[in-house]
Amino acid sequence: PATDTQKNRNNIRVICRFRPQNGKEKKAGGADCVNYGEDDHSVAISGKGFGATMKMFTFDRVFNASSTQADVFETAAAPVVDEVFKGYNGTIFAYGQTSAGKTHTMQGPDLDDFHNRGLIPRIIDSVFTHLEEADASLEFSIKVSYVEIYMEKIRDLLDVSKANLPIHEDRTRGIFIGGVTEIHVGSPEEIVNVMKLGARNRIVASTNMNADSSRSHALFIVTLTQVHSESGSRKDSRLYLVDLAGSEKVGKTGAAGQTLEEAKMINKSLAALGNVINALTDRKTNHVPYRDSKLTRVLQESLGGNSLTTLIVCCSSSSFNAPETVSTLRFGERAKMI
Ligand code: ADP
Ligand code: MG
Repeated sequence: PATDTQKNRNNIRVICRFRPQNGKEKKAGGADCVNYGEDDHSVAISGKGFGATMKMFTFDRVFNASSTQADVFETAAAPVVDEVFKGYNGTIFAYGQTSAGKTHTMQGPDLDDFHNRGLIPRIIDSVFTHLEEADASLEFSIKVSYVEIYMEKIRDLLDVSKANLPIHEDRTRGIFIGGVTEIHVGSPEEIVNVMKLGARNRIVASTNMNADSSRSHALFIVTLTQVHSESGSRKDSRLYLVDLAGSEKVGKTGAAGQTLEEAKMINKSLAALGNVINALTDRKTNHVPYRDSKLTRVLQESLGGNSLTTLIVCCSSSSFNAPETVSTLRFGERAKMI
């Protein structure tokens, strides 16, 4: 297991994706506020309300509002699947304000819309393609789990009776979610059913708690085990596909009670994630504060150590949301190497 001081630098990629303006934004008088650089790496946001009239950012890659799901998969996820087959862990996060396109990017607009499916189903397809092409002396097993973290509680999205799962750590297994449902999958089609079950349970759970699912982090976890049939040597690798809670600031007016408590928790856990990523990219720091939130604690072995982390910052193209977009892009910028 990774320790707090064990670090692997250079392993965080930051990708930014814009979505087109929607009807609501246009109706509110929004205009397109994004200027893309010619190099696919830079972007400028124009508008008022963030201390300047124009703000420039650079990332490992910028996807404009007409990018396709396949484009994003090729850049953001295909290299991660390759690494997972080599035995490394990986994490892909979608970060951004509510309605910026996180779920669209990770899952897709509709699980039955094959053409527009998002990263998770494409990653699963790619995993099965790798299996077909793999060395015949390797035996594979694929397991998936699906959980959400809401108000610092881990809920099993594949078994709603498990509403507050613990995080454990031991010598052989490392860090894991105690008692989480793990489903063995043998085909890409089975995964779609698992995702549908999880998505339904996420809605049911949030309705029961009178909460909005955009207030929780959803973690789709894929565990790949490779066993060599002759030598018996075994490699376990884990991929975390994370649809983060909405990063928007709660309005200065009106937030009280549960909404305010939720907002505080989200701020705390997203700040903890930012701090962990910053510590991992900062050569001068040795302490990585994984224990500051459930999210970073669960992801500890997949962020530090031998792993590839990809942060996808999702943004609206509309001037209507420009201040939130700038705040999202700043989060992405802070995650880059120092
Ligand atoms: P989030 O999960 O960040 O709250 P969603 O992924 O649900 O946001 O996106 C909000 C809406 O915008 C959905 O109707 C979604 O289909 C649409 N949308 C998001 N990203 C894109 C995109 N890149 N292209 C077209 N439509 C998008
Ligand atoms: Mg969403």
